[in-house]
Amino acid sequence: MSDISLFVADAHCRGHLAGRDHPERPERFDAVKHGMERAGLVARMRRAGPRIATEDEVLLCHTPHYLKTAQHDIDSGVPFLSTGDTEITTSSWDVALRAVGGALSAVDAVATGAARNAFCLLRPPGHHANASHGMGFCIFNNIAIAARYAQRAHGMARIMIVDWDVHHGNGTQDIFYQDPSVFFFSTHQWPLYPGTGRADETGEGAGEGATMNFPFPAGAGRKEILGAVQDRLLPAAANFRPDLVLISAGFDSRIGDPLGRFTLEDEDFADLTHAVMGITDGRVVSMLEGGYNLAGLGSASAAHVEALIDG
Ligand SMILES: [Zn+2]
Repeated sequence: MSDISLFVADAHCRGHLAGRDHPERPERFDAVKHGMERAGLVARMRRAGPRIATEDEVLLCHTPHYLKTAQHDIDSGVPFLSTGDTEITTSSWDVALRAVGGALSAVDAVATGAARNAFCLLRPPGHHANASHGMGFCIFNNIAIAARYAQRAHGMARIMIVDWDVHHGNGTQDIFYQDPSVFFFSTHQWPLYPGTGRADETGEGAGEGATMNFPFPAGAGRKEILGAVQDRLLPAAANFRPDLVLISAGFDSRIGDPLGRFTLEDEDFADLTHAVMGITDGRVVSMLEGGYNLAGLGSASAAHVEALIDG
């Protein structure tokens, strides 16, 4: 099995929301890429070519009606998805399919052993999108589709999703809420958008116990979040024994973010990464979610990726 880390990035994603005054802006792509380049990380990784997801792949987690609605909204030039608060521009359909496709390329590489782990520099983020609604800067739920794809295309039975974005990954939780085969763990600020993710949201039916939420007040940081990972996630993972771990890597939980009030520092993201890598011997696919302070986004993502490479 390869010990190389894969870097999935597609500059086409800069087209989404270009020219808008929006926190989820094209410059986020540049901030992460430059942060990784400054740290000498890109040269140490294998690059993956762009890939456009098929509609069937998107349908692994979304309804046919939502797929049609999103495509129609984007093609018609309206500024928002009709399902919620997600801003769109005319290139958003192509970009959203590329974001999903990139995530699936990363799963292919790690599942086949071509890479040990992968970091996907993707826009738009995905963790707020559920089966039938885009919302919160998200069109398709990239990480949820990646989880289902790992199961269907690679026969991986159990997938664990770790979400350290400052916002609750309500869409991911919703998609797998009754599913015992995909474990969802989230730390997030509460109260904060989107308002879900209470500690007593633990799954439903067959999925009861396969969702874990750790809401923390503004000001929380290393002690709370790394503590939840070490004290709660790792024992749960030892019991669940996932075949693959996916990370919803949001860096809006870093200190100084304009949309969140957590206090994680760059080295905390490295420590979180190392802890999560221990679950599956380093076999991890990480994908960018939030992070809106460009300088902080660049340095925090570099610390995270360096841990993936060195881990
Ligand atoms: Zn976020």
